[in-house]
Amino acid sequence: MARVILAEDDEAINEPLARALRRDGHEVAVVSSGTTALEVAAAGVADLMVLDLGLPGMDGLEVIRSLREQGSKMPIIVVTARTSDLDFVVGLDAGADDYVGKPFRIDVLLARVRALVRRGSSPATIRVGELIIESAARRVRVGDDEVNLTPKEYDVLLLLSQNLGKVMSREQIMKEIWRGEWFGGSKTLDMHVSGLRRKLAETGGGREPVIGTVRGVGFRLEEDSAAGSG
Ligand code: CA
Repeated sequence: MARVILAEDDEAINEPLARALRRDGHEVAVVSSGTTALEVAAAGVADLMVLDLGLPGMDGLEVIRSLREQGSKMPIIVVTARTSDLDFVVGLDAGADDYVGKPFRIDVLLARVRALVRRGSSPATIRVGELIIESAARRVRVGDDEVNLTPKEYDVLLLLSQNLGKVMSREQIMKEIWRGEWFGGSKTLDMHVSGLRRKLAETGGGREPVIGTVRGVGFRLEEDSAAGSG
């Protein structure tokens, strides 16, 4: 899937995390200092960095700044126990793409890595019949008509379109979109899907691909607009 630089000096964390990332199909280079993280990043073959802020030598925040100064757009997920720095990373935008506070659940971090990989690798424009998703602008159209979606509706549609014709289970969707931080069960997801269907149908008037329900499992975006059961 992706080549990941895991910059974390705590072996109690980086060993199980590296194993989990590899199980998830990634290639992992474990580094335990900020300077090494920069060197490996400079080699230009990695797709993504998981970065602990508390690194010996060069601090994680300096690593981010330095990478961004060099013009690197490598997605970075920050991992830290320093909540004061989290405020900085998130609020002042030090240049990280996402963050996870310690302690974290490994599956949550894996989902975030997958989300960033997906974002990085997704083509600028996805077409499913008359449906056009412009991912850079987060814009959705059916033919020439724009569909106004909420951010979550958009995320659900993008995920389904990237898995065209495949059933995505409720659990998978919620894990990917809500990243393990949802509350209130799958009712929320049903609400977003029904809003999405309504808006697509209102705009598309039958030209739009349909989000099918696979009973007891989840949802699927149908390639053929006539095939869905709604
Ligand atoms: Ca550390």
